[in-house]
Amino acid sequence: MDKEIEQGYNEILESLRKRSLWILHYCTGCGAIELPPTMTSRYDMGRFGIVPFVTPRQSDILIVTGYVNIKTLRRIITSYEQMLDPKYVIGFGSCSINGGIYWDSHSVIKKLDSYMPVDLYIAGCMPRPEAIIHSFKHLMELIDTGKADGYRRYKENYDFYRKNQRKVLGKWR
Ligand code: SF4
Repeated sequence: MDKEIEQGYNEILESLRKRSLWILHYCTGCGAIELPPTMTSRYDMGRFGIVPFVTPRQSDILIVTGYVNIKTLRRIITSYEQMLDPKYVIGFGSCSINGGIYWDSHSVIKKLDSYMPVDLYIAGCMPRPEAIIHSFKHLMELIDTGKADGYRRYKENYDFYRKNQRKVLGKWR
């Protein structure tokens, strides 16, 4: 395919893709309680074409809603790897950024992006629906400009992520 046609085709595709995002919300922590009001009539994320979904293979966004313990990490990675490209990760709440109030827990990981690529974080404990809606709109901009490229980084830096995963999970596969 001609390079210019391919570029135009990709731009149209990105623009359409950002208007139909299905989320797999992995409710790891207490912040997940803010998702129902974001989904339902008051904040109505459906108006942006964003809807919750139940299986990784049909989802575009993985939302990790809070702290992640070591047992949960294994399941999150498995879910992420089952999702099809392009796929995006949102780290939700301070716990996903630096461990939050669990920063000194032996069983909670401190930085989600050491184990999988995170396209954006929502800071706060717990982030309110306004912040979640704002982050969805920001993610749409990142997709539109080709900057939501975590799924590519995961492949390019697979050894880095694998090494970190093995450090906490051992040789789990
Ligand atoms: S950031 Fe706060 S609300 Fe979110 S999981 Fe951590 S303690 Fe819970």
